[in-house]
This record gives sequence, structure tokens and C-alpha cells, in this order.
Amino acid sequence: MYPPGLTVEAAVPRGDLFTADPVAQADTLEAIAALAAGCTKCALGHTRLNSVPGEGNPRARIVCVGEAPGQTEDETGRPFVGRAGQLLNEILRAIGLAREEVFICNVLKCRPPNNRTPEPLEAAACSPYLHRQLELIRPKVILALGKPAATTLLNVPASTALGDLRGRVHRYRGIPLVVTYHPAALLRNPHWKAPTWDDVRIARRLADDAAAG
Ligand code: URA
Repeated sequence: MYPPGLTVEAAVPRGDLFTADPVAQADTLEAIAALAAGCTKCALGHTRLNSVPGEGNPRARIVCVGEAPGQTEDETGRPFVGRAGQLLNEILRAIGLAREEVFICNVLKCRPPNNRTPEPLEAAACSPYLHRQLELIRPKVILALGKPAATTLLNVPASTALGDLRGRVHRYRGIPLVVTYHPAALLRNPHWKAPTWDDVRIARRLADDAAAG
């Protein structure tokens, strides 16, 4: 028995201390990148040349989220540096933004073989890195490039059609989120460029409004 008035705190269960997720506790983008570089939570960690955590302005008002690194990204460790990346740079320029002003990353931090679409289990294993990046950057707007980014961030089935997600402003943990086509899809189908330009203009306006308000 303890003397009256003395309260004794319950001991912190040791398991919690030692099993706490280091990704959720990472407090800089560099720390997240370092964790991704050593990650083997899924098989892609064994086949990558380099992890591709993302790059750009840590205080970006807009974060662009793609699908997964391709070959050039895997070789360089940098996101969107191949042909799709050139087009992304052009899309950003169209709304008056230099690549360096935004933060660019992907759902998956490692390249899937032959650039196949991310498996749901890979997206589930990797998405904590993305969620923590967004938590640290706290952008005014998220631009989801293509279906894997949109469905992962909005937590809807991977089978959801992109057309059902475009054309309105969603919320990701309170942050406005705009869905548009992936630049690689635009390379295959240039007819989607005009609607993409419309989407990114909306994203830019939302970012400006949030900064002004
Ligand atoms: N496609 C993506 O989704 N991400 C990249 O980094 C490159 C191509």
C-alpha cells in the first residue's frame, strides 16, 4: 500500500518503447530518407539500386506525389528525372513554379521491376514514409499524379477509376488534394494535357488562396 496522496504512475510498457515505428518518429526529411535507404519492408528493398525518397523544398506549398521510381530514378536516387520528369517540370512551369519550389516524391520509394504498378502490399508497406513526409512538410495543396498516388492518399480501393477522382477537391488529413493524370500517361496520350493543365491551375489557386488566407 502507498501512503494516502501518493499516486504512482503506471509503468510505460517496454514493448511500446521498443516497437515504436521509427518512420513515424523521424523528425526531418533527411531522417526519413535515411530510413528509406535501409528499408527492406518489402521485396523491392532487395532489388533497388537506390531508394528514391523525394526531393525539393522542405517548406513547399505544393507536394507532387507520383507512383514509383522508374529506371533513371532508380539509377540516380532522384524522383521524376526521366521523360515523365521533364514533362512534370513543364507542367509546373505552366503554373509559374520552378521544380525546386515544390516537393516531389512517390508512393513507393523503390523501383518495381519493369516499372509495373505498385502492389497493394508494397504501397501499404511504403506509405508510412509518404505520410510522415506530408506531416513534416504540411503543404497547402497535394497534387496526386495518377491513380496509385490518388487511391493511396485518399484511402480508396486501388481499382477506383481516375475519372471518378478528378474534377473535385479532396482532403487529405485536412489538406486540399487535387488528382490529375500521371505525366507518363500524358506522354502516351497527349489529349489529356489540356485537362491536366486545368487541374494544376486549380492546385495553384488553392495554394495561393491558402497562403493569402
Ligand atoms: N514516375 C513516377 O511516378 N515517379 C518517378 O519518380 C518517375 C516516374
